[in-house]
Amino acid sequence: MEIVDLETIPVVHTLPNGDGVGDARGFGHTHGTTLLRLETDTGVVGWGEAFAPGPIAEATIEELFHDEVVGMDPFDVESLAVQSYTDPYHFGGSVFVQCAVSAIDIACWDIIGKTVDQPVYKLLGGTTRSSLTPYASTMYFREDGRSIEEPIREAVQAGFTAAKIKIGSGVEADIERVRVAREILGDDADLMVDINGNYRPDQAVRTVNAIEEYDITWVEEPVPPENLTGYRELKERVNVPIAAGEAHFGRFAFKRLIDDRLVDIVQPNLARCGGFSEARAIAKLATTENVGVRPHIWNSGVGLAAAIQFAASVSDYPHTRHVPEPMMVEFDQSDNPLRHEILVDPFDPSDGSLDVPQEPGLGITVDEAAIEKYRADR
Ligand SMILES: [Mg+2]
Repeated sequence: MEIVDLETIPVVHTLPNGDGVGDARGFGHTHGTTLLRLETDTGVVGWGEAFAPGPIAEATIEELFHDEVVGMDPFDVESLAVQSYTDPYHFGGSVFVQCAVSAIDIACWDIIGKTVDQPVYKLLGGTTRSSLTPYASTMYFREDGRSIEEPIREAVQAGFTAAKIKIGSGVEADIERVRVAREILGDDADLMVDINGNYRPDQAVRTVNAIEEYDITWVEEPVPPENLTGYRELKERVNVPIAAGEAHFGRFAFKRLIDDRLVDIVQPNLARCGGFSEARAIAKLATTENVGVRPHIWNSGVGLAAAIQFAASVSDYPHTRHVPEPMMVEFDQSDNPLRHEILVDPFDPSDGSLDVPQEPGLGITVDEAAIEKYRADR
């Protein structure tokens, strides 16, 4: 079997001025990403995603990978992840190369699954859990001045039993946002907070210690991703589990987070960290050191599907069978049709649990006509 066709498809959804959503660092008005369509000489089509702006992802794939991927046997997928560190030498550890590798790797695993008629999670080792726990990413900072209560109420009404909210604009505002979220979610729900790296370590310590009483499942990116000494300081000064990884890529960056015990949970984004092959290496490193793995998802339906397959395959630490923790899967609640409109059967997280898809490959059918509506290169 060999790949005979490769197409990169930049897609974007733009929010009107005044409707921007964001985090403590500011507002955003676009959901943009890059899809990849591979086709084999047997007629099998595989889909991947690079969590990177279209023109950059497209140029990286075309310049560095097109000639190698066309003619490649998709079953040789793991060699691509390994080879990316050597060829192009010195560039393999850069984010856009790993985004490109991610897209190709995910699409190859989709093809492999469809060819052997198995979902990808089975090919990654299978799972011991039949369902995952979806959580709502919500309570964004908003341009429109909407109340902070409304989005979290909507998440509860939609059936979510866990949620992650944005904080990071000052300790008093953080406490109020967490108080409101906990009150509306109820005492039993998992509640996570995301600072998006907006604090210095001392600021993060103040906020995290102030909200600890609200039973926080994890605090995400309390300090910027590169501030590794800051993560070390936080670990010593707060009692809430720390998560990071959405801005990291490649197994070497994650190995540092894990080996130095800078975080309690790593959050690889499948469309950025290097795809399934690299994410599998990251998960093995993490679970060996009893560090949790919860994928970051702010992607299209393709990247979401990849993260769900990966999440289903991640095992618990061998000694923790009697204190199981839910494998949580992120469902961003901002206005993003790329998450559901490009899938014939979108994922339904509405009853507080998500069945692991059993269809082959990524377990999705991509609606190519719907993609055309959002192409950024037309
Ligand atoms: Mg985050």
